[in-house]
Amino acid sequence: MLEKDEYYISRCLQLAKQGTFAAMPNPSVGAVIVYKDQIIGEGFTSAYGGAHAEVNAIASVQHPDLLKESTLYVSLEPCSHFGKTPPCSDLVIAKQIPRVVVGTIDPFAKVCGMGIQKMKDAGIEVIVGVLEKACQQSNQRFFTFHQKKRPYIILKWAESQDGFIAPLHRTEQAPVWLSNAYAKQLVHKWRSEEMAFLVGTHTVLEDNPSLTTRSWYGKNPVRIYLDRKGQIPTSFAINQQEEPAICITANREMKSNEHTRYYYADFDGNLVQQICTMLYELQIMSVVIEGGTQTIQHFIAANLWDEARIFISEAVLGEGIPAPQIKQTQQTKRYAIANNELHILHAL
Ligand SMILES: [Zn+2]
Repeated sequence: MLEKDEYYISRCLQLAKQGTFAAMPNPSVGAVIVYKDQIIGEGFTSAYGGAHAEVNAIASVQHPDLLKESTLYVSLEPCSHFGKTPPCSDLVIAKQIPRVVVGTIDPFAKVCGMGIQKMKDAGIEVIVGVLEKACQQSNQRFFTFHQKKRPYIILKWAESQDGFIAPLHRTEQAPVWLSNAYAKQLVHKWRSEEMAFLVGTHTVLEDNPSLTTRSWYGKNPVRIYLDRKGQIPTSFAINQQEEPAICITANREMKSNEHTRYYYADFDGNLVQQICTMLYELQIMSVVIEGGTQTIQHFIAANLWDEARIFISEAVLGEGIPAPQIKQTQQTKRYAIANNELHILHAL
């Protein structure tokens, strides 16, 4: 029986992958309905605000009578609260599904175990914790957000072969891409996937980035920058997009306007922790720290990061601003950039 449960939960995990980024800040979940060892319904979480996996799976069953003799497999505990949609645990009870196999408990305080309890109270046989680790892994951002009360943090930078992130002297105000078209496109894909991108003051002043998704399809991330003194003018690209940018500043004279929303922080205190708390309150579930070295190094020093993605160019700068230094305890992916190619070098 156990093997069978694992088999169907792994199918749930396959399905969950299809909803991952569109579902945020909801978790992406997969659900499978099995009648006499045959899959009669499947579903995954719709884009944010849409139907949950269980609802989609139940709706896909051609002969609803069979539900009364079926097992529902689901990678995450069915919800028990009214969010954007009614609770799935109520639907499971209403459809009289007799057996439910849950991959892992939902860490979200409004659900955490309550969906399971509700179904048990209704007389449903509920099994919890099948492929639990893999189910949590499949919603890393969601689990990090609720368990650690901060976004899932990805550090990203490009460095030269000799370990520099930028030359000492710039001649023009534009990003120095230790990069090529493929790397650039991949970064734009990440912009469409993660909820926010954050850069430090120097990066805004030196590179004037817009942090929008242009070389990929999909949404723009929330754009966040640090500006202790409030010195970055509204005319900079980051402040000139459809949605206002978020500026974290120590200057309380800065007032929010149509281009920029100001949030105040104590830059002499633990800034990284304050940023994490701020983003948690803003319901931002994932953030990419795109530079520069100083900003990234702050997150490393505070040990507040989950993943690093490093582009390594074949360019040699000789001298420059050193790239951030990390110990490889967390997940680190390295991408090698050659003239016309991009390779994944090393993934931990
Ligand atoms: Zn639900």
